[in-house]
Amino acid sequence: MSPLIWGRPGVSALLAGSRLRASGATAAASADKEKDPSACKGIAFPELVMRLDGRDQLARMTPAFRRVLRSGFDVGSLLDKLCPVELEDGRVALFTVDDYARSEQIEEFERMVQARGRTLASPARVVVPATLLLSIVRGQITGDTLRSRRRVLLDPVKSSMASAFHDIVAWGARHGASDIHVNLRSAHPESEIRYTLGGRYVMPERFRGMQTSTLREVLAVAYMDIQGGNGAVFDPMIEQQGSILHDVEGVSFMLRWASLATDAGASVTMRLLRMDMREQPPDFARLGYLPSQVRVVERALVAEGGAIVLAGVVGSGKSTTIASMMSRIPSTRKVITLEDPVEYLIPNALQNSVSRSLDGSVSNEFDAKLKTIKRSAMNDLLIGEIRDRSTGRAFMDLASSGSNLYTTTHAGGAALIPDRLASDFIGVSRRLLATPGILKLLVYQTLLPALCPACALPLSSLFDRAGGGGMASHEPDHWRRYADRLHALYAIDVNALKVRNPDGCPACRQSTLPELHGYAGRTVAAEMIDPTVDDGFLRLVRDADTLALRDYFRFQRRSAFDHADMTGKTAMECAIYKASQGLVDPRDIEPRFVSFETVELRRTRAPQVPPGRRRPRRLASGRVQAPLGRRRDAERGGRPA
Ligand SMILES: [Zn+2]
Repeated sequence: MSPLIWGRPGVSALLAGSRLRASGATAAASADKEKDPSACKGIAFPELVMRLDGRDQLARMTPAFRRVLRSGFDVGSLLDKLCPVELEDGRVALFTVDDYARSEQIEEFERMVQARGRTLASPARVVVPATLLLSIVRGQITGDTLRSRRRVLLDPVKSSMASAFHDIVAWGARHGASDIHVNLRSAHPESEIRYTLGGRYVMPERFRGMQTSTLREVLAVAYMDIQGGNGAVFDPMIEQQGSILHDVEGVSFMLRWASLATDAGASVTMRLLRMDMREQPPDFARLGYLPSQVRVVERALVAEGGAIVLAGVVGSGKSTTIASMMSRIPSTRKVITLEDPVEYLIPNALQNSVSRSLDGSVSNEFDAKLKTIKRSAMNDLLIGEIRDRSTGRAFMDLASSGSNLYTTTHAGGAALIPDRLASDFIGVSRRLLATPGILKLLVYQTLLPALCPACALPLSSLFDRAGGGGMASHEPDHWRRYADRLHALYAIDVNALKVRNPDGCPACRQSTLPELHGYAGRTVAAEMIDPTVDDGFLRLVRDADTLALRDYFRFQRRSAFDHADMTGKTAMECAIYKASQGLVDPRDIEPRFVSFETVELRRTRAPQVPPGRRRPRRLASGRVQAPLGRRRDAERGGRPA
């Protein structure tokens, strides 16, 4: 191992005692610097900086990292840029990012350390990547996790298992997988690795035929890095949970581990959360929100007080959308977040990672943080998810306090969010939910694969084909009748519909998975309810009229299905609009929602007048709505959805 010391030649020779060392990629560069005095031009005084480029180098550092020194050093808001740490020999090093390595603040810190009777390590300044520093400050990397990492790195067998695990994670990370699944089959020599990619459960060719015994070892070694796990070692016979921090090409990922002891063997699912601390969340248009929807969100963002609640299934991109909303809040407002874990760096926000306990409930840490936050005069607060009674209480407390609350929950539609919040699991009072001003905006979103614009084919290209996309084969005119049904249901121009090209093109064939050829990323399909302009909705919430809530959108639509105005349209109708523009394959819509046949049946059987209303209802805008909708539909040969 060679010392990683950047400094004036000669000065290092004066150093006494043990030196910080780490092996790794930057060693050569540092050695060059020591040979070349010109590299140190402009440095006016003896300066010693070590540079670590990742967690593995940190794990190899001697003397090893022991803990972050919080008490006794008033680091305050500098903590994510400059952090005093204690090493195993009791000396103190200052972990910092590039910009602060030569700052006045770090000099001040060095004086402070000595003034407190502590000895500085040599070199005292250790430059680490910003994401690594955040993980250290947030306690995601600890002396313990580094020790077990070091054990793995020093053992050649374990080390090769660790690199196999890295390959598995890196493949998922590069392809934008939301989950990695390792299914051990104890009775078989081979087991399987699958990924959830674009909502599909796929098995890439390169991980086929993995040996069961090897995979079990790979999981056992990976589990050594687990935090908050139940059990010290991986046990295929029991259910285990926890999280692992893992870097792929300089980006940190949080892997949320959940293993299920199935009859065939352990099935480990790892949710892949990209902790993109350097990147700002994408804007709404890039996520796939349409202009009329962006306007609704913007209206909600400027309104004072109340909650914006986002629903969707797991992996539907809720946290990305919420982070995008938060990043639009003006800097004159105090923004605090409570997340599990922090995935995006939101400018101007004071972000907090709180981990859930093993049973999935929120820990005491959450309650303690919340207590302090309530006294911190914040304007906007993000609570990652409302999922149990503890977060439900927090919701009631905060939504009625006049601050702006942003959160997510699991519900099958925007109109079903109040029902979910009022459920026995969460226990928010219906009365409160029906109070004007408490619910500001309800959003439901899902993600659909977006067609590659370079190679998408017209729907008519299917007309001569039988077969139905992997399902049982259909009669030859199947797709013609499919097009007819779409036209009858939605009065859209079926000649504008496009479908995926299964062969793909150079623009979209970067994946080794044929299932993804013809696609270019994913796009949001969303529905929104703005209860601030619709008292009728709040009345249904108050009366717990679940059926009327389910059918809420039936009488809300104001424009044709191929019109860009999304007012009163469901997420499925939003997807239909995107299909009418050739952006998504209509065949990808049914699996996310309901079949077109179900839509047809519901329309013919459902009442044609809103429940409890004889006359057409006036909207807040004063427009008479139902007859207008029907008139438009009549013109287009359709009926209201
Ligand atoms: Zn293509």
